[in-house]
Amino acid sequence: MTNMESTREPAVDGALVCARCGAPFRCGSLAGDAACWCAALPALPLDRLLPGEPCLCRACLLALIDKTRAADSD
Ligand SMILES: [Zn+2]
Repeated sequence: MTNMESTREPAVDGALVCARCGAPFRCGSLAGDAACWCAALPALPLDRLLPGEPCLCRACLLALIDKTRAADSD
């Protein structure tokens, strides 16, 4: 993994980098939107939300939700 970009401060409010895949994405709640796009997605179980866990990009969040649901339905 390369971290060349990691020391750079975000230039835009709400600009984050996914902790999983490193993809840049925008957090609506940090940017001052009424609601982040993630609020429209199915909620993750509380045990998936670790304290201090950074936000994930949409693709990773959807993948995590998928994985969680697949495990639940088994
Ligand atoms: Zn990601």
